[in-house]
Amino acid sequence: MPETTIIVTETHGLHARPAALFVQTAARFTSSVQVKNLDRPAGRTVDAKSMLGVTALGVSQGQRILISAEGDDAASALAALQHLVESDFALGPEDVTPPRPATPERADVPAMPQPAAPTTTTTTPAMPDPAAAPDIPPLKGVGAAPGIAVGPTFCLRTRIAPPEFHTVADPDAELERFRQVREQARDELRALHDRVVQTAGTEEAAIFAAHLAFLNDPTLEVDIATFCTEQKFNLEAAVIAVLDQHSATLHQRHDPIFQARVADLQDLKQRLLRLLLDPEGQAFALPEQPCVVLAQELLPSEAAMLDHAHVLAFCTADGGPTSHVAILARGMGLPAVVGVGPAILEVPDGTPAIVDGKSGKVILHPSETLVAMARKRAQSEQEQRAQQRAVAQQMTMTRDNRRIEVVANVGSLAEVNQALTEGAEGVGLLRTEFLFVDRATAPDEEEQLAQYRACAALLAERPLIIRTLDIGSDKPVRYLKTATEQNPALGMRGIRLLNIAPELLRTQLRAIWRIDAGHTIKVMFPMVSSIDEIRTLRQLVAEVATELRQEGQTIADRLDIGIMVETPAIALLAEQALTLVDFLSIGTNDLTQYTLAADRTNAAVNYLNDAFHPAVLRLIAQTARAAHDAGKWVGVCGELAGDPLAQVLLVGLGITELSMSSALIPAAKVIIRRASLADAQAIARQALERDTPQNVRNFLAQQIASAGG
Ligand code: PEP
Ligand code: MG
Repeated sequence: MPETTIIVTETHGLHARPAALFVQTAARFTSSVQVKNLDRPAGRTVDAKSMLGVTALGVSQGQRILISAEGDDAASALAALQHLVESDFALGPEDVTPPRPATPERADVPAMPQPAAPTTTTTTPAMPDPAAAPDIPPLKGVGAAPGIAVGPTFCLRTRIAPPEFHTVADPDAELERFRQVREQARDELRALHDRVVQTAGTEEAAIFAAHLAFLNDPTLEVDIATFCTEQKFNLEAAVIAVLDQHSATLHQRHDPIFQARVADLQDLKQRLLRLLLDPEGQAFALPEQPCVVLAQELLPSEAAMLDHAHVLAFCTADGGPTSHVAILARGMGLPAVVGVGPAILEVPDGTPAIVDGKSGKVILHPSETLVAMARKRAQSEQEQRAQQRAVAQQMTMTRDNRRIEVVANVGSLAEVNQALTEGAEGVGLLRTEFLFVDRATAPDEEEQLAQYRACAALLAERPLIIRTLDIGSDKPVRYLKTATEQNPALGMRGIRLLNIAPELLRTQLRAIWRIDAGHTIKVMFPMVSSIDEIRTLRQLVAEVATELRQEGQTIADRLDIGIMVETPAIALLAEQALTLVDFLSIGTNDLTQYTLAADRTNAAVNYLNDAFHPAVLRLIAQTARAAHDAGKWVGVCGELAGDPLAQVLLVGLGITELSMSSALIPAAKVIIRRASLADAQAIARQALERDTPQNVRNFLAQQIASAGG
């Protein structure tokens, strides 16, 4: 039997996309093709056309595989597989995915019952308040991103009933159901793959190619058929049993690469179950015309599926003003109301609605008068915004010539572009999670470097502050083995990952050091809560630099090191922290949740989670004083920085950099230019004397009103 031995040099070994390509190539030939990992003791020989089999070999970079083939085209099969492996799987995505489906995925989009065109805008000036006299009482949530939108609703229903298990008389009928559902799943995965290639790139889309390869594995059909025939249970039970069984086999290997494949199999299981339990596709249909998107909460993976042109506003049952949907909406310049409660999920698609992101009101079936008022307000907001944007490209100085840097929070390369259009003077917070989430393995050093360099190149001489990975807690990734936590917000997140995945941080720091000199790059660490952590991080930064120099890599001459002030502990120890860092940036989203012991993702405690709370303001004041005494700068990058009510107060407290969602920058610049430092300091002093968040807000609103703002 012809056979060949090859060393797999691909970085990821024979997993995910490479495995999918391998299996797909083998399947093109009629010969039977076998493969074995020669570097695993007692390794099995498996069918090269089986994704499950090939994955179970656990071939990593540098290991040898033995491929053998038997049949008419055996020699060609071996040659094709050898070429594939030796070229490091350098084939395009079209080689992985079968041809596009003839029909689009789904098009069940509600018609707009109201004839008028939808409208949206993003700022919060004086207004006629359409929510002042509604015909039906409005639903009330928390205004999470400013602006007002009018349009039909569209609910992202992502919850489906749990499957029921029962015995069946005809196992063949279950197998036929499997073949049908597999075909639907194939169509979805191909479409998803193509869409993600367009929106995020080939690497991000590779995960769907891997899912497709698992789905096409002949073993899967055999196992399902065996289960249904022997156990006489329905297909839903078979899907769960078979995919859980394969997951368990991989899980036992205690290797992160296998854990990632377990996540793939579980994703596939969920997809098949959803298609079986929700055949009409109501659960995951996406809007295909501009709509007010309603959801329980919006997960980053769901947000990635949305076409931005089809979203007018977000409205969620759960979540708080600093939850990720709120940040996403501000980033997109769209209004959002969060924490409205489950009633929002009962609203039929196509219901006319007004979403007021300032007051947090959602008005269903508004009268024509209300719609007219909302449109008028939207129009006036748009005009005001145009005026603000006209002067947004200039630097920001207070009336008495104090420089305040107004910079952007961004979460992708595309957002850097948008930030520059809005007048950002740099990036005060690059949330690097965008590179790490929704994929099977972490990005390597080169991929990160390319992305960071691209951001730096767009910013030219403007500063770029890169925050190291802040995954864990409510931002889980599938390749990290974190235990299930009772209190994830208090668990393994931010730089605490040093304990479980130090290599992730080391690789990221290597990429950051290697960004070209000539740019102002700073690194910043999230979720710090002790001075020891800062010492460890400093040492790591220095070690990585030494290592790179020894390797002969070109690196920056220096790298400013900062930390986020997100825990009360570090705010209280700011003086000590400042002996070890170059700057501080206050993350008021987390600082508020940790100071007030109120989970920022839990709508039930939204009423507590207010950054205007005097306790939070005092921590900010204390941090700013310590920075001033140490001769170092302090910024704010939490959502408070973008709040028009807070900006003068923050300047008065001694903050010299405000980092916010891009869409909020033009308005912030106008507000800061109108203020003088002396006035701002007086306002800050008086605000700190107030005893409740509401009293602070009332006081600040009065100050703005009396200044004619
Ligand atoms: C913060 O906590 O204020 C912050 C900016 O970080 P994130 O919102 O990403 O947790
Ligand atoms: Mg944070």
